[in-house]
Amino acid sequence: MARDYYGILGVDKGATDSEIKKAYRRLARKYHPDVNDTEEAAEKFREISLANEVLTDPEKRRIVDMGGDPMEQSAGGFGGGPAGGFGDIFEAFFGGGGQRGPRSRVQPGADALLRTRITLEDAYKGMKKDITVDTAIVCDACSGSGSKSGAKPVTCGHCHGQGSIQEVQRSFLGNVMTTRPCHVCQGTGEIIQDPCEKCSGDGRVKARKDLTVNIPAGIADGMRIRMAGRGEVGPGGGPAGDLYVEISVAPHPTFIREGDNLHVTAKVPMLDAALGTELTLDSLDGSPITITVPAGSQPGQQLHLSGAGMPVLRAESAHGDLIAHVDVQIPTSLDNHTREVLEKLRNHRGDSAEIHSEEADDSVFGRLKNRFRR
Ligand SMILES: [Zn+2]
Ligand SMILES: [Zn+2]
Repeated sequence: MARDYYGILGVDKGATDSEIKKAYRRLARKYHPDVNDTEEAAEKFREISLANEVLTDPEKRRIVDMGGDPMEQSAGGFGGGPAGGFGDIFEAFFGGGGQRGPRSRVQPGADALLRTRITLEDAYKGMKKDITVDTAIVCDACSGSGSKSGAKPVTCGHCHGQGSIQEVQRSFLGNVMTTRPCHVCQGTGEIIQDPCEKCSGDGRVKARKDLTVNIPAGIADGMRIRMAGRGEVGPGGGPAGDLYVEISVAPHPTFIREGDNLHVTAKVPMLDAALGTELTLDSLDGSPITITVPAGSQPGQQLHLSGAGMPVLRAESAHGDLIAHVDVQIPTSLDNHTREVLEKLRNHRGDSAEIHSEEADDSVFGRLKNRFRR
């Protein structure tokens, strides 16, 4: 019998990694040998540590979700022969050594993958999205038994329940014993005498299912959301696999995302860059954001607004930064009046174009370079 790892930690089957860790830490504080030195507590602590190890390892957790027990296998307790039920499923899928005995008629279902596209606004806010999947569900006519009358399968007469047929073949090495799956029962050792008409004895039927997927705020392009037990039901009405929903986030006309940060380009007229200005844009949730462009802003300068970026996935209320790149707009055509004003300004400033000199570079970076040069 597989251990109930979820029950040991007191979490439900959909628990996230952090919920599992939290539950483990809470129990560990109670049963840790340093805190509680009774034999009972020691046993309990072993149990919760094991559950934590299993449920925080995606591969082991998957086995648990299929009704198996990953720790049984490593202890060598499983290979002892088909015990029926989940033991067989486990062996069939994870190769518990040689294929002794028939394979289980009931098998776990396949995982399914579905892609869905959302906008950057959706990724910012998080959303519940309705999706439709074509999948296999348990046959309602026979409740997955595959039998019209609900009768239990009988032992295959051809292979006597072994699931395989042994034959002696002559070869240049002498007589060789070969084993092949029984074709009458497809290697299961069992036969359904009155197969269900709706599913032809498979225990499952094709169906279209409507599901709602919970897309968390901060999700990024290419991430997959696992919906445990929402994949296909297996042959013989076996436990359903998982459904993975892969999220594709459409490019946005204004914002470019880089991790949790958002980048925008701020087109700033030449005079606004010199004198300073403010500009407002709509954030991804529709609320206005004001960007202050300080006087003397340079082309390519980056203005950071901390906390105005994307929400950090599974980190409540934490956000990345918004980074506005200053793109100074220099007029390409001037009317007469503008030309006059600008020429006046040039005479007033007395600035002139010159070739950049490393020696005269008085910036912090320039001074540093010069120090190493000397
Ligand atoms: Zn059926
Ligand atoms: Zn057979």
